[in-house]
Amino acid sequence: MRIVIVGGGVMGCATALELARRGVRDIIVLERAVPGAEASSAAAGILAAQIESRDEEELARFVVARDAYGDWATSLREATGIDIAHRRSGVLSIARTPAELEAAQHDVALQQARGLRAEIVDGAHARTIERELCDGIAGAAYYPDEAQVDPPQLLRALVVAATNAGVVMRGGTTVATLLTEGGRCVGVSLAPKEITRADAVILAAGSWSSLVPGVPDDMPRVRPIRGQLVMLEERPPRASTILFEGHSYVVPRGDGRVICGSTMEDVGHRREVTAAGVQSILGAAIALMPRLGEAELVRSWCNFRPSVAGAPLVGASPLPGLFLATGHHRNGILLAKVTADAVADAIMGARPPS
Ligand SMILES: Cc1cc2nc3c(=O)[nH]c(=O)nc-3n(C[C@H](O)[C@H](O)[C@H](O)COP(=O)(O)OP(=O)(O)OC[C@H]3O[C@@H](n4cnc5c(N)ncnc54)[C@H](O)[C@@H]3O)c2cc1C
Repeated sequence: MRIVIVGGGVMGCATALELARRGVRDIIVLERAVPGAEASSAAAGILAAQIESRDEEELARFVVARDAYGDWATSLREATGIDIAHRRSGVLSIARTPAELEAAQHDVALQQARGLRAEIVDGAHARTIERELCDGIAGAAYYPDEAQVDPPQLLRALVVAATNAGVVMRGGTTVATLLTEGGRCVGVSLAPKEITRADAVILAAGSWSSLVPGVPDDMPRVRPIRGQLVMLEERPPRASTILFEGHSYVVPRGDGRVICGSTMEDVGHRREVTAAGVQSILGAAIALMPRLGEAELVRSWCNFRPSVAGAPLVGASPLPGLFLATGHHRNGILLAKVTADAVADAIMGARPPS
């Protein structure tokens, strides 16, 4: 059984590894640049299940995804020696005003009713959790089980583990079109004239997924939403807890690096870090942690969240032979392992391994 995967981001690599671990022998990941070149290595790496979920169904799914990471990190370290820096660093979601605190109380009560750890803390208590937090807040919601990983390390570990398990990673290889015969996807063609036939094709091309020629018209469109990030370095490291305020966040890695984000911009695939983007990110970060004003600005970058209206596109597609692992928007790192499992289930349910 040959499986071809279009795109070597976290979705393509995690799904390839999962299929290899289940005994599939002939798996090829086709990546136009290098594996992990795009959103997956650019992400902040927050596993924000409780903060990011928009309804109860999503909350349940996201918490399962977050809690799967501990075992996954261990198995990746055992297979590769690479530490993906999985840490349960907790999140403080800041409320500046009484109205924001009331909304936070509502969220916390809902999550406590679902048996999840969450509590409302006042400003003084919040500063015992994160001593670098600013003064003058109304309070915060504290989610001690929220976690983080280091995305570039995750991608390195996935590529090494998948390669060791027999997956062929072909970088510098652009898929020119999906091949369809008799109403079924039967492979892909590569520029200039090479054809690779497959029993199943997995579309994992991130925010470029809808641009791959041959993708069914009735598949929901995946659109890029640009996000910019800034990395600071504080010496010595002081901050330890992830802070959230609206779409702004501060993610201390624990070793002095602090990732500050982010913007949400509907500007197509314009690969630009902008003055206004960096200004808004740093303004929010320094307002949350005033001492970050003294930290070194190490670098800034941007990339594109693969965004769809509604839930991510995972599993069988309208075109037989084509499976989907895309459209994870702000939460693709969080959802990588559970997506790989679901796509492998969908493919193995369709055919036994060989
Ligand atoms: C600024 C920012 C911060 C983020 N922070 C977080 C976070 O804290 N937590 C979280 O869970 N998620 C976060 N995300 C979201 C997460 O990064 C994405 O949802 C996830 O990485 C998407 O993975 P992917 O594999 O679908 O896409 P990508 O990583 O973009 O991979 C797609 C790959 O397909 C390749 N490709 C495209 N077209 C072709 C073709 N025709 N042929 C061959 N290859 C092709 C591309 O080169 C690319 O490498 C963030 C995203 C951004 C931009």
